[in-house]
Amino acid sequence: MNIHPFITIRELEEKLAKKEITREEILEFYLRRFEAFDGAIGSALEIFDKESILEKSNAEGGQLFGIPGLIKDNICQKNRVASCASKILENVVATYDATAITRLKEAGALLIGRANMDEFAMGSSTETSAYQKTHNPWDLSRVPGGSSGGSAAAVAAGLVPWALGSETGGSVNQPAALCGIVGLKPTYGLISRYGLIAYGSSLDQIGIFTRTVYDNARVLSVMAGKDDKDASMQQIEKKDYTKNLNGVLPKNLRIGVVTNALHAEGVEPEIVTAIEETLKVFTGMGATIKRMPLPSLDYAAATYFITSRAEAASNLARFDGVRYGFRNKRATTLGKMYSETRHDGFGEEVRMRILVGNYVLSAGHAGQFYNNAKKVQRLMRREFMNAFADVDVLIMPVHPAPAFKFNAFADNKLQMDLQDYFTCAMNLTGIASISLPCGLSKERLPIGFQIVGPDLSEELLFQVGHAYQQQTDWHTNTPVGY
Ligand code: GLN
Repeated sequence: MNIHPFITIRELEEKLAKKEITREEILEFYLRRFEAFDGAIGSALEIFDKESILEKSNAEGGQLFGIPGLIKDNICQKNRVASCASKILENVVATYDATAITRLKEAGALLIGRANMDEFAMGSSTETSAYQKTHNPWDLSRVPGGSSGGSAAAVAAGLVPWALGSETGGSVNQPAALCGIVGLKPTYGLISRYGLIAYGSSLDQIGIFTRTVYDNARVLSVMAGKDDKDASMQQIEKKDYTKNLNGVLPKNLRIGVVTNALHAEGVEPEIVTAIEETLKVFTGMGATIKRMPLPSLDYAAATYFITSRAEAASNLARFDGVRYGFRNKRATTLGKMYSETRHDGFGEEVRMRILVGNYVLSAGHAGQFYNNAKKVQRLMRREFMNAFADVDVLIMPVHPAPAFKFNAFADNKLQMDLQDYFTCAMNLTGIASISLPCGLSKERLPIGFQIVGPDLSEELLFQVGHAYQQQTDWHTNTPVGY
């Protein structure tokens, strides 16, 4: 049939246009790959049957006609389970499609399953899933990152050419970097949150995994744009994000390198070297580099910690055993039913975050924690906006080291949370960021970097990222054995 496992969306579309393959053949190809490899990787919580996948997608055509993708399990697909990898939502079937899903189906995309994730998107390793571990295809003894680890691992192993994740504090960019693929965290309000099960509503965005920047722009073009069902949307019309992808950088591009991020405590020398090499590629293409600190970044992880827990405590209050899913049936009173359902239904990490969230919001503490966090958040946004008066985009690491081993942070969860330093500022400020592979470690593990831009700078980020991928071939490296 002449498809290779790491074929891009662009190449698949060419083959479809030339009638060299059909969408049924493409689907079969990927379903077989899941069968062959996902036993060891564990990226999917469920792969749907072939007929139902085809039936739910536009059979006439569309911008992503016949292109299979995997969906993070916190995005609602009508008549499919949406569990957020939590026991409390076990077997809960979505009654409607998220707006992003509606648009993907209309575009003819084939939605083939549900991706594993950290429970309610809380984590950086996909280890908090109530159901299974997801292994990093580059080294099965390591995590794929998180919380969208299942989506990232599937794309990295060539089990699917694209996948959706979600970002509240780095959950697309970080796993993209650890799995050696491209991850986009769009501007807040660019993709509708309708049907994305909330973690921290003011921070949440759906994000996209692909192997190339071009493919990423293809998928965004289908989903982006205004939606009356989400009041926080930017009023942006639909557009084609591939339009400017001509392989060259915009003239006189000014890149800011965030020095306190690049040289933050704990960033491994291999990461610094890979990013310095990347900067050379950009200067070679005519960009100018300005090294600059962003002091408020040093408060990002603490600010995110408070804000995200506060919003999570409120968002997750609705899961009480009455309206959805799991219920503790042994409880003898209504009060006990609520508390025992929540105790048994939520995992430890989620319970801990709900406790912390209620604490930082409680009378007497809100002033000290939540209100201060909101002030720092505003300061941070102002500092980023000032930076964008001087430079067009910023470059920084995504994660201080390549993928880590399972249980690496079992005794020190706070250390794992501190690594959100590199990503969560983009959620707190709402601005856009794209993560791209830029190297391999001594152990042949992927290294990524991120390009960050102001609100609604996706076209610019794609243009810069695509130009980089025309000059380099880091994105063509793949894990061995698939
Ligand atoms: N590491 C972050 C957290 O645990 C990631 C959250 C996210 O983006 N969903 O909160």
